Amino acid sequence: MGVMESVELPKPLKFVFNWGRKYSLWAFNFGLACCAIEFIAASTARHDFIRLGVIPFAHGPRQADLLMVSGTLTDKMAPAIKRLYDEMPEPKYVISFGSCANCGGPYWDSYSVTKGVDQIIPVDVYVPGCPPRPEALLDGIIALQDRIQNESLPQRMAERRPIILGTDGQVHELSVAEAQEASRAADAEVRREVEGAAR
Ligand code: SF4
Repeated sequence: MGVMESVELPKPLKFVFNWGRKYSLWAFNFGLACCAIEFIAASTARHDFIRLGVIPFAHGPRQADLLMVSGTLTDKMAPAIKRLYDEMPEPKYVISFGSCANCGGPYWDSYSVTKGVDQIIPVDVYVPGCPPRPEALLDGIIALQDRIQNESLPQRMAERRPIILGTDGQVHELSVAEAQEASRAADAEVRREVEGAAR
């Protein structure tokens, strides 16, 4: 752990550091299935998350501070993502994008699918949907940036408070257990819609 994570900085210094971190998020994309296409759409000209200061060209996990997991995580792939996450330096953030990454999505009862990336790494922002639209990812990024701007790193290291984008369009900040439960509830709703549409 570095100095910034263990010592509370003076307010003006914290403001400048947080402002810099907020607008220079080097993203490591972990695209696993269809949601990754929405991620790509969010990075291209129409939605263009680079204008928000998110740089999707991290050469590897050691240069990244934002991991975006989009798609279906299988038990076979889970150790690889855990290893990549462990290689990222602190302070690091995780966006779980889409029902599959949040809780297994339509494959929640599959023998080979991990029931949410939060089973193996801590998630900062949950974006529900199957698939969520690129705008939802932009909302998730903006919510994360607001969090970073006002963040105290020692407090963050002591307690994580994930954010979940509600189906009501609101941003909710919850405890880890509450966020896991809320993301599963939101995605159960999405799953019912997907299963209903498939019939
Ligand atoms: S949440 Fe839906 S769109 Fe996204 S990866 Fe899973 S099945 Fe595909």
